[in-house]
This record gives sequence, structure tokens and C-alpha cells, in this order.
Amino acid sequence: MHEMKPKRIPVSGPSITEKEVSYVTDAVQNAWYENANMYHQRFERAAADYIGVKYAIALPSCTSAIHLALAAANVGPGDEVIVPDITWIASVAPTSYVGATPVFADIDASSWCLSPESFEACITPRTKAVVPVDLYGNVADMDRICEIAKRHGIFVIEDAAEAIGGLYKGRKAGSLGDVGVFSFHGSKIAVTGEGGMLVTDNREIYDRVLVLRDHGRRPGDRFFWNTEVAYKYKMSSMQAALGLAQVERLEELVAQRREIFSWYEKHLGGDPRLTLNAEAPETRSIYWMITVVWDASLNLEKQELMERLDACGIDTRPFFHPISSLPAFADSVAAREASARNRVAYDIGRRGLNLPSGFNLTPDMVAYVCKSLQEVLDTRTAAPVLQAAITT
Ligand SMILES: *Cc1c(COP(=O)(O)O)cnc(C)c1O
Repeated sequence: MHEMKPKRIPVSGPSITEKEVSYVTDAVQNAWYENANMYHQRFERAAADYIGVKYAIALPSCTSAIHLALAAANVGPGDEVIVPDITWIASVAPTSYVGATPVFADIDASSWCLSPESFEACITPRTKAVVPVDLYGNVADMDRICEIAKRHGIFVIEDAAEAIGGLYKGRKAGSLGDVGVFSFHGSKIAVTGEGGMLVTDNREIYDRVLVLRDHGRRPGDRFFWNTEVAYKYKMSSMQAALGLAQVERLEELVAQRREIFSWYEKHLGGDPRLTLNAEAPETRSIYWMITVVWDASLNLEKQELMERLDACGIDTRPFFHPISSLPAFADSVAAREASARNRVAYDIGRRGLNLPSGFNLTPDMVAYVCKSLQEVLDTRTAAPVLQAAITT
């Protein structure tokens, strides 16, 4: 069926150059003894400057960053945390770690990020925090979300794991709430293998996170004096060196990813059956996952499309399932309420896929993915016509 079938096309993957290799090599040779922290310091400084915030803390994952943010804001048993129903489970699981209750709000039909209206409707006297997610590299409508949060005294943790380098009204994704968090997992746009970061302008939160992430030791403590039972959430120098090189190249990475999106747009942008990632005015998406949502009338299940593309050597991922539909949460009262309420999440979550979005893509590979996708769609749209031809 396909003349130019390339080897498997993965769904994501990083851009690694000589710069990354030389920084990591230097770290493994030299970042010990009195220099043990040099790459952490450079990485945190470079990231804070790039994001436009005062403080940055390198961490082993974004999941740990969200955990620390909730703990530092004293979120605990009896408190509710509002999260969008469509996201990776890492946005939600830390709420359970601290013993609080997640409440799943609906997403906006265009941005696919937290709907400000649904967020506001989910607020109760117990709501302590909200975790808006910058989904697939887009940025949530943070002005409206933060305005609502402020009116109700709700702490805002912006989950920018998928959107480092994104822009909202001239400000960087991750700088828009009380705390911002990022992931440097190998699938993300900037990688450290595994890794994360917490950023904030709030000195109190920053100081508290430094204690919480180091087994309850105060920064600079050399007496090994633990003031409380806390966590061990740190990154190695080799990872920090890799992260520094990636942050120094971020604008280049964002431009490259946006170019890849433009290749997809050229092939799929005019297809009335499909909707690609939206980009609101005054927003710059970094298109972490280039995503298609297909028309409901096609009656196509995401698993079926995944399998058909898999047979063409193309890896895809399902659009996130509503978190409230996952076995991990489905038995909870909050999940049952959410499944009855969140119409957009339950509709769009059923008919979307993430297409290959990695830095190894070429225009030819993207053309092949688009052609393969459209051929599958053609079999759905052509069917009723064929049927009609046979009966007449
Ligand atoms: C990847 C991701 C995370 C978790 O990142 P880790 O570094 O793997 O812990 C959190 N939130 C969102 C939205 C993500 O996509």
C-alpha cells in the first residue's frame, strides 16, 4: 500500500547535539567535590531567567514538583484540589499523595485546557488549590483562571510539563500561577532523561520546598539535623548538565517543533474531518504533541485508528482518557460526578490521537503519516457511498 514505508516512526523523542554531550561529559568528569552543585546552579539559573521567575529548583520529576508544591501550600486531608479531567495522571496523583481529594473539572472545547467556567463551578469551601494544565504545549487561559482563584483564595499550581517555552500574553508558560512545574522526561520537548522543575516568585514557598525535598534539612545544613520527616527529591549533576544544554537551546527547539506542526498543517489543515491543536490569540503553543481530533460522525474509535496506524509503522498515543474514567479513580464520588458533568472531556477524549511529534521527523515522514491517516479516514467516509452505489 505504501511505496516509501520508512522504519517505525516513534511518537516522540529529543534533539541531542554536541552541546549536550560535552556538558554531560564535563559533569561526569568534574561535577564532584567542591563542584558537586555547579551544574544544578547553572541549570536552575538559566531556567529561571528563561521562564522569567525568581526561583527554580531542579527535581527528579514533574510529579515530585507537584507533590512538593501541594505539600508546601499545606494541602492535606479534607482539602479539595481542582484538576482538568483531561491530563496525564501525574497532574492528579500527588493530590492523593497528600491525602486531599481531586475534583475533576471539564476542559475547554477549543484549547483542550481547563475550562475557567467549569473550574469556577467546581469550587467549594474546601477547595484549596487548582492545577491548570498547559495541555499538549498549549497554554490554559491563565488570566481568567488566576482571577477566579484569587477571588476564592485558591493556590494555583500551573502544570507546564508539556509547554516549556510556551507564551501567554508575552509571559512564559509556568510563570503564570503561584507555582509552575515542568517535566524533563525523555518524551518532553526539553529532556534530562527523567527530571522536573518547580519555579516560583514566592520566597516562602521556595524556602519550604528546599526543606521538604531534602529529608527535612535546611539548605546548607552540615550537621545532618533533620527537623521533620520529608522527602528526597533531587536530580544528579549529569541530568542538570543535560538540562542546561537543552534550556540554552530552547528557542531553537520550540522553533523546530513549530515547523514540524506547520508540515502537518499543510497536509491536514484543510481536511474538514479533522481538528488540529488550536492556538489562541496572544498564545504561542510549543505543540508538544501534535494532535488530531476527528469528526464524531466518522464513528471511529481511537483504539481502532491507533491499530491501523500501528500496522503502517506509525506510533501514536490516545488523546488522554478522562482521568475520572480511569480505574485508578473511577470508584470515587468525585469521578462519578465528573463523568456525569464533563461533556467536553468525555466527547473529545474519545476521538483524538497524538501523532508522531519527535525531533527526528522529516517532511517526508510527516507526509507519510498524514497520507496513512487520511487513507484510514477515507475508508470510513467512503463506506456509505459504496453502499449506495451497490444498492442502486
Ligand atoms: C509528563 C507530565 C507530567 C509528569 O512528568 P514526570 O516528569 O514524568 O513526573 C505531569 N503533568 C503533565 C501534564 C505531563 O504531561
